[in-house]
Amino acid sequence: MDQAAIAPTSSDPLDILQRVFGYERFRGRQREIIDALIAGDNALVLMPTGGGKSLCYQIPAMIRSGTAVVVSPLIALMRDQVEALKHHGVNAAVLNSSLDPASRRQVEEDLAVGRLDLIYIAPESLLRETTLRMLDSISLCLFAIDEAHCVSQWGHDFRPEYLKLDVLAERFPRVPRIALTATADDRTRIEIGKRLLADGARTFIDSFDRPNLRYRVGLKNNPRQQLLAFVQNEHRGHSGIVYCFSRKRAEDTAAWLEANGLTALPYHAGLNAEQRQHHQDRFISEDGIIICATVAFGMGIDKPDVRFVAHLDLPKSIEAYYQETGRAGRDGLPADAWMVYGLSDIMQIRQLLAQSSADDRQQRLERERLEALLAYCEAAGCRRPVLLNYFEEQHAGDCGHCDNCLDPPETWDATEAARMALSCVYRTGQRFGATHVIDVLLGKTTDKIRQFGHDRLSTYGIGAELDKKTWHSVLRQLLALGYLQPHPDGHGGMQLGADCRALLRGEKQLVLRRDTIPATRQRKTRPTVEVDTESPSWQALREWRLMTAREEEVPPYVIFHDATLAAIIDAWPETLEELAEISGVGRHKLDKYGEEVLTVLAGVEKAGDTAKG
Ligand code: ADP
Ligand code: ZN
Repeated sequence: MDQAAIAPTSSDPLDILQRVFGYERFRGRQREIIDALIAGDNALVLMPTGGGKSLCYQIPAMIRSGTAVVVSPLIALMRDQVEALKHHGVNAAVLNSSLDPASRRQVEEDLAVGRLDLIYIAPESLLRETTLRMLDSISLCLFAIDEAHCVSQWGHDFRPEYLKLDVLAERFPRVPRIALTATADDRTRIEIGKRLLADGARTFIDSFDRPNLRYRVGLKNNPRQQLLAFVQNEHRGHSGIVYCFSRKRAEDTAAWLEANGLTALPYHAGLNAEQRQHHQDRFISEDGIIICATVAFGMGIDKPDVRFVAHLDLPKSIEAYYQETGRAGRDGLPADAWMVYGLSDIMQIRQLLAQSSADDRQQRLERERLEALLAYCEAAGCRRPVLLNYFEEQHAGDCGHCDNCLDPPETWDATEAARMALSCVYRTGQRFGATHVIDVLLGKTTDKIRQFGHDRLSTYGIGAELDKKTWHSVLRQLLALGYLQPHPDGHGGMQLGADCRALLRGEKQLVLRRDTIPATRQRKTRPTVEVDTESPSWQALREWRLMTAREEEVPPYVIFHDATLAAIIDAWPETLEELAEISGVGRHKLDKYGEEVLTVLAGVEKAGDTAKG
């Protein structure tokens, strides 16, 4: 244990926030949550990724007497959190099966004498009788159950051991518990309450809006090229995650980005554990790595400076999309949630749904989920209300920070076009794919048309006024809206969907969005931090940070976040007192790195940095 790590003792949460963590003020409902725990209440906390959940139990842990036990599902995550705490001068340790006997004895001794403010334990270890007995014998101040949605059997992060955590209430009835998650839906929340906080808890739900994320959904055209252009134009040298539907796509995409001079690594369940770990470690400890991954990647990725999350394929649901995109911009600086999708994605995902062997109820739920996702993709207005309404949160729209707000799409009355398309699908026998249907609408002469005699149909050539791209767009939107469905044989044909009758009869109007392909449009590179990332001061501080991180064997952000470096450059402190004022510089870091940071700045100034001021 780091003997130098003696946290200042204080019983004032704000004082600890400022002195230990170096932050000016509490965010959202942090203060209320902290006060509830200090008063001995249980708490259920729903807060988006990056919202600042950890401080909600870390600060009470430092104020209440006794040790706080933090339960977290991933060993790597616990290690990182404990490293970060130690760097703030807080007494914390991890207890898990990977410790060697000597370190384990040390941790147990520290625990026994009450030297630790926080101990992080994986659920398996915690539930062992020997561990529980040890906890019986020491003074505890609270239990924090992180990633509490792991208790829900509905989600894909389900951990059976989490169900057994109900033993904590029985065995330690006087110790308050706090359960935290970034999963927002009601069902999960109720499940957490029932399983982990059956004796009651105060519930704190924060807004799930992530104002620093810019949501963009583009039309898939040449996806790899689009992705490359996006990264090259807007995210050179940044860390990002690209989500792909399959292992193969993850591999291919990584190889393609590599071939184009970027550093990209695949991550999926087909790689062995060692490779996966290696790629994940590089992503976390180096700058500018892009991970091309299946959904296997992400849980427990605590990296604060992920600048973009891209989807080359549709996610499974809005929940999944929200969670995956949520891994971008945890540090609060601008980040992009970027996606491209197209007609074939809808076909594929609807097909999967049609083939689902789940029971009726489950299928209905799956269908609702898919409709919500497609409605999000096809939205013509601000994306935030669509996203947040899904989590039963209101948003007024006009966020000014999504593609539809920045670049409002045109819409057009497509009632007539939709009728033509639907009748053409009907007349051709409800089994052909988009290409053929469009050929018929346009009155083309192809072998297929001749073979089936489709040039004799009443719909042959009725759509010649619109071009192929527009028809493609109409068909895609009809599929998204459910007016068309994939043919159940799975060969890419389409048939009429449930309620297209009103449309066909002309009793209903249909307004569609006019497609543009914003994803490839050249945009000016937007600085992600309010600092010139080319400036010598930025370079010098980053270099110093990287070196220090290597020496200490921690990720660079554990030393200082990008936001803190940017604030340092902005303020250009010349004394330790001035440096102490900066957000993210707590007392411990000031003692440890203050002189070095000032030296780096002085060196740059001497060399004549223009970024100053
Ligand atoms: P979560 O667990 O909710 O995803 P974290 O607890 O990791 O989020 O916090 C996200 C980031 O926000 C961290 O870098 C944390 O230090 C920072 N943070 C938390 N609370 C505050 C605050 N009150 N002021 C400034 N930064 C904060
Ligand atoms: Zn918007």
